Amino acid sequence: MRLGPVAPADAPGEARIVCPIREEGKILGYLLVANRSATRPIDPGERELLEMLSDYLAVAIRNSRLYGEVAETKQYLEQLILSAGDAIISVDGEGQVRSWNPAADRIFGFTAAQAVGQPFANLLPPEPYRSAHGSLSRENPVRAFDASAKRADGRSLNLAVTLSSLPGRNGGTDGMLAIIRDMTAQREIEAQMHQSERLTSLGQMAGGIAHDFNNLLQAILGYAQLMARSPGNVDVVRRGIDVIEKAATSGAETVRRMQKFARIRQQDEPFVPMDVNQVVRDSLAITRPRWEEKKIKGGVPLQLELELGPVPVVMGRPAELNEVITNLVLNAIDAMPRGGTLRIRTRLADYRHAAITVADTGMGMTDEVRKRVFDPYFTTKGEEGTGLGLSVSHSIVERHGGDLRVDSRPGEGTTFTITLPIGMKPTSESTTGSHPGGERTGRILLVDNDPQVLSILGEMLKDAGHHVLPVPSGPEALRVFIPSGFDLIITNVGMPDMSGWDVAERLRASDPQVPVIFITGWGLQEEDQARSRRLGISALLFKPVSPQDLHRTVQVALAARTR
Ligand code: ADP
Ligand code: MG
Repeated sequence: MRLGPVAPADAPGEARIVCPIREEGKILGYLLVANRSATRPIDPGERELLEMLSDYLAVAIRNSRLYGEVAETKQYLEQLILSAGDAIISVDGEGQVRSWNPAADRIFGFTAAQAVGQPFANLLPPEPYRSAHGSLSRENPVRAFDASAKRADGRSLNLAVTLSSLPGRNGGTDGMLAIIRDMTAQREIEAQMHQSERLTSLGQMAGGIAHDFNNLLQAILGYAQLMARSPGNVDVVRRGIDVIEKAATSGAETVRRMQKFARIRQQDEPFVPMDVNQVVRDSLAITRPRWEEKKIKGGVPLQLELELGPVPVVMGRPAELNEVITNLVLNAIDAMPRGGTLRIRTRLADYRHAAITVADTGMGMTDEVRKRVFDPYFTTKGEEGTGLGLSVSHSIVERHGGDLRVDSRPGEGTTFTITLPIGMKPTSESTTGSHPGGERTGRILLVDNDPQVLSILGEMLKDAGHHVLPVPSGPEALRVFIPSGFDLIITNVGMPDMSGWDVAERLRASDPQVPVIFITGWGLQEEDQARSRRLGISALLFKPVSPQDLHRTVQVALAARTR
């Protein structure tokens, strides 16, 4: 800094000097020096010293002001963190809690003294925390996810977590910041709404189900009486037993479907690979009694057009998607009191999305109604309606990363379109998780034409913690397959529509990395051995497959995949 001019002593003979204290041309004050004891005038050397001193004073004054500002800002920021409603937790480079605000205290039930220095990871379940944390990077500095956790007192928590990596001094990262919102109460309300909607739907279907059951009972009773009357007639008895068995099986199946539908589900059930077409078929099965009831009792001409196109696998919760489609179908039936056509289509919307449309030729909606259909409790059905079906459906589809849209015109019918992202892109590190014992779990496409084998192998794999999509044929496997959507393919070799060889070859063409395990009832010929080496088949299992063999082989194949 340049020295400012020095004011001359104003009274002659008195040794006084006045130095202005300046900062960027502004005068902050004056340094006044008088040489009272001696009358000697201040000499130029002393004057220079005083000028320098006034400069230092300017710096000191500025610093003390800045310090005040910093202290104020710090206090303000600390106050913000203290009074925030969300937990704000900073975590050091070693993953230990560095700071912990009162909201964190309230949410988790630990005091700052208990929490600071502890591993942050202990607060959240390993997944999805690990994948989110692992994917934090300079390019992706923020990751948000929902997680359930436990409070100190053991109560369950539903949390919305946002992790941000904190930039360090030398370009790297220096730990992270976690902002955590307690969603427990809100999720509970949502779950209650959801449950009440589900029970209402069941109530709507109950009439049809009762009708169905009466038919079944009618058949059972009829044949039981026939058989009682002519127990010697082998023909009647044989047919009777057959009919009774079929009727009872069908009734049991209906009960099972209803129970599955009504069951209270956890919001944090994992996403699994699902076959959208199968979900549509399930929804039709569950709504069929209601449909039949309208047709038979109400004499309403209703038609169903089903167009299930080739749709690759979608990650999600089949039970929830089933509910969405069921809601849309029930609404469509309600919208066609004088009959009409329900058209359900599935297709590939674009190379990233599958679309399901549920269209009816019913009464349609006015613009005012259309704008409000997704609002909770909005209904035009009076006492009959809950107004929750579409709002619940909307939030389910959103949780799946998809979109639910409506097109409608009064008198011309309504079309609802669900779009869902197909497959799952994350690399195997984040999806092939592992169990505490170091066991790997993965997404497995299981192909077998024998329904019993398919179901038992599926159960064994699910039991071991894998996400399994069972399909009954090669063409089905090709339809649902999506590159990088699976960590492993297990296929039967001898199948009527398409052999396991062809399945492996075709799937490998679109995903050369995915391991394949063959299952066979026969064994392989010499030339097959060569072919299987060429294809890089991971392993061959012989029927009947024991859980231990299956487990070991799958572990080896998944390990090879993640390496
Ligand atoms: P609810 O069926 O209990 O009324 P929803 O949330 O399922 O509740 O639907 C809300 C409203 O949206 C319905 O009351 C109706 O007015 C309208 N709506 C839904 N689906 C259709 C449809 N397919 N055709 C005409 N209107 C519909
Ligand atoms: Mg409804």
